[in-house]
Amino acid sequence: MLKADRYKHFVEYFSKNQPNPVTELHYDNPFQLLVAVILSAQCTDKRINQVTPALFKRFPTPEDLAASTPEEVFTYIRSVSYPNNKAKHLVGMGKMLVDVFNSEIPSGVDNLQKMPGVGRKTANVIASVIFEEPAMAVDTHVFRVSNRIGLTNNATTPLAVEKQLIKNIPKEHIAVAHHWLILHGRYICVARSPKCEICPLTWFCRYYERNNTETALLKAEAAKVKKVKEAKKKATLNKISKELKKRSVEKG
Ligand code: SF4
Repeated sequence: MLKADRYKHFVEYFSKNQPNPVTELHYDNPFQLLVAVILSAQCTDKRINQVTPALFKRFPTPEDLAASTPEEVFTYIRSVSYPNNKAKHLVGMGKMLVDVFNSEIPSGVDNLQKMPGVGRKTANVIASVIFEEPAMAVDTHVFRVSNRIGLTNNATTPLAVEKQLIKNIPKEHIAVAHHWLILHGRYICVARSPKCEICPLTWFCRYYERNNTETALLKAEAAKVKKVKEAKKKATLNKISKELKKRSVEKG
């Protein structure tokens, strides 16, 4: 199947079956989403949703974070991964929002990336979710699933995956496609053993096609080897039988 066809089927399937996917992080405003996304790096959304209610209550605005210390923020996020670094980033981010961006979340990936703790992936999430820009955040799920389906070719870095997806997904679907890929990777196309048996994408998935073609070829090869062995065995038995008959005639 051509790559263009895989993209077409991918967009058609999810547009129809999952038209309005949303992030599983809980938030009420752009500032809270930014905090939650910074915290979610290498951590689960479930864990982040456990700590953010108390954190948002204590620090409802960028000013509150800016006036705090990493030590205090740490006490609210100690159960997430890398709490020391993330506490420093959150306070630094609050300060920059207040000092540079007038306490508003800036639009544009470049501006967003100026803040501590905001890498390209986080900036793309904010750009697409808050500002509905055609930005594609590539996390481990997006990276794996787009490769398995066959939406990317030889893309070995998140940036390469991002570029290929942006180039091929129609602009109006890019922001939601990020959620389609993440949710599919989280619940069906999981890392260790993809649940192909319940996946609705098998008919255009490259991984599924290759695996099943390989399995079919291996089975055909095994059947061929078995047939040859049986033919050889039969020929040997015939030869022995003929030899025995010949000897009994000579004796008689
Ligand atoms: S068919 Fe399997 S490998 Fe392909 S997307 Fe579905 S779960 Fe993933």
